[in-house]
Amino acid sequence: MLEYLPLKKVNAPYEREILEAMHRVVDSGWYLFGREVEAFESEWAHYCGTASTSGAVACANGLDALRLVLRAWIEMGKLQQGDEVIVPANTYIASILAVSDAGLTPIPVEPCADTYLLNPDNIEAAITPRTRAILPVHLYGHLCDMERILQIARQHQLLVLEDCAQSHGVATRYLGDAQAWSFYPGKNLGALGDAGAVTSDDGELLQVIRQLAFYGSERKYVHRYKGVNSRMDELQAAVLRIKLKDLDRCNQRRCDIAAHYLSEIKNPDLLLPVARQSHVWHIFPILSPDRDQLQRRLSEQGIQTQIHYPIPPHRQRAYREWGALQFPITERIAAQELSLPCHPAQTDEEVAQVILALNRGV
Ligand SMILES: *Cc1c(COP(=O)(O)O)cnc(C)c1O
Repeated sequence: MLEYLPLKKVNAPYEREILEAMHRVVDSGWYLFGREVEAFESEWAHYCGTASTSGAVACANGLDALRLVLRAWIEMGKLQQGDEVIVPANTYIASILAVSDAGLTPIPVEPCADTYLLNPDNIEAAITPRTRAILPVHLYGHLCDMERILQIARQHQLLVLEDCAQSHGVATRYLGDAQAWSFYPGKNLGALGDAGAVTSDDGELLQVIRQLAFYGSERKYVHRYKGVNSRMDELQAAVLRIKLKDLDRCNQRRCDIAAHYLSEIKNPDLLLPVARQSHVWHIFPILSPDRDQLQRRLSEQGIQTQIHYPIPPHRQRAYREWGALQFPITERIAAQELSLPCHPAQTDEEVAQVILALNRGV
């Protein structure tokens, strides 16, 4: 079976180093707020090109990273309950849940038909007097058109929160006001459990987030905000530090696999994705009008695929207030998208096997 994402194989090259690091952490007797998290925060800030070496705050997961930024902006008086935040209609629902959770109003807009990324024209069309922020998602590992998005943001004085859960390493310098990261095991940089982080050049924002994530506390037992508990543990930080050293190589391997798919899949029934200038291929999405059948037939040949994502947010019961909205591009992606295996542990033979199956019409 050619597994879609065999995490055991992906993590195998680091096993010895991870076990050593775990031993070190267990031995230290210190499991939260220790040296591993502190070191990971500064290594991650450095990797993301933040202005300061203290440009990152670790937290418990990617959804929390998004929620903490929005909550912090509310505490700082930059956002108020009911303000509108423009989001891509075709994102993973977590991006939108974060907006709702903060008491803000998500405004979904259609993506570009060719890149599946947030469409700047649709952002402009959706701006109202209540719009205060844009939430671009670098979906599937492709950088959104940040130049235009930032230009619109400047013109209308909007905050920009980038959802980077799928785009580790897609840029050497991120230009929005803040970036939210997930290190869920299946992401390009994945822990052995849940973990997340926020990066930003705004030191005040990061300080508020650090407090919010620690029960809203400025120092122990003194509570400035109604905060939450959201922290990364030492074990996850130790694992992430090891895997971070190899992230560029892993992303390069994903890009090599994607390049093979793009140049060698020749099947007129399939629509291949467009390679944007900056990409790390978290997911390799193809569109097929017979998606479900294609997935079944690939599976019969031992090739596992996934769907990202089968039901768009505006068709979920959670957002039933959007039931009457129509997003044809988003709906087409949901109905036709199929993700091919594309991960750093995939061999050339496995890449060839996928290409052969698709070219034979499966
Ligand atoms: C994975 C993901 C998240 C959520 O991250 P978690 O760590 O699972 O909470 C948010 N947004 C996008 C686009 C994601 O892919």
